[in-house]
Amino acid sequence: MLRVFNSIAGAMLALALLGGPAQAQQQPPFATTKVEGTDNVYIFRYGNSQAMFIVTSAGVIATDPIGYGRPQAVTTYVEEIKKVTNQPIRYVIYSHHHFDHIAGGKPFKDAGATFIAHKQAKARLERLKDPHTVIPDETVDSNRTITLGGTTLELTYIGLNHSDSMLVMRLPKERIIFTVDWLPVGSLPGRGMIDSYPLEWEDSIKKVLAMDWERLIPGHPGAGGRLGTKKDAQDILAFLQDASAEVKKAAQEGKCWDTVEKEMKLPKHAHWPNYESAMPFVLRRYCGLWGRGT
Ligand SMILES: [Zn+2]
Repeated sequence: MLRVFNSIAGAMLALALLGGPAQAQQQPPFATTKVEGTDNVYIFRYGNSQAMFIVTSAGVIATDPIGYGRPQAVTTYVEEIKKVTNQPIRYVIYSHHHFDHIAGGKPFKDAGATFIAHKQAKARLERLKDPHTVIPDETVDSNRTITLGGTTLELTYIGLNHSDSMLVMRLPKERIIFTVDWLPVGSLPGRGMIDSYPLEWEDSIKKVLAMDWERLIPGHPGAGGRLGTKKDAQDILAFLQDASAEVKKAAQEGKCWDTVEKEMKLPKHAHWPNYESAMPFVLRRYCGLWGRGT
């Protein structure tokens, strides 16, 4: 209780010193947090992106370097791991092929890590040859299990959703999954709709709901920094289904693109914190699907 009081008092003091709530909401540029109730599972956050890493007695399993346009995020990530353990970093596993999550891995490569990604991520990255993104050494087709120092991590390709290369990383003992961008926690998918597969995305959510897990570590911090639950995944599914059904009707009446993009509202979902900014991306993507066939 005293700690709670102190942190509230500290926050109020910071508010007073900084002169307003806008500044008081600023968070430190990065943070490393051990996931509650686990022995060795950590979240490294830098800015508004984050990745999971697991420390075992035989080395570290890291995920997404999150260094797009900011190489210092990756050197910080490696330094933060070294503060926790002297074990070598054995693996870096990419969640999917998008640069905002996987660019910048060179410091991990220099530390000797083996890079793993879904096979479609590797094929895409080989084509794009982004100078800042390490090409995976090994690939996953449908699934692969990594066992290291007593920790088991299952990598599963669950189908098309926000990208065509998404892995679900599951810690069966901890009943935790780490998967990125397609199950946002407490917000709607916005820009993440751009190159998505909306119909298959719904199938992927049904599949992930059938897996055994309790907590979800997202690739962008959830509302208030919380982890996700199956309820969050169900809420995203309900949103996608409603948005899809509404645009489908309008599209078949010839209202894509302009009318839908300018006029359509989904009042049932207006309570989501990023509703206004997400809707243009959502409506454009569903017009692509139902108004064009893509
Ligand atoms: Zn993405």
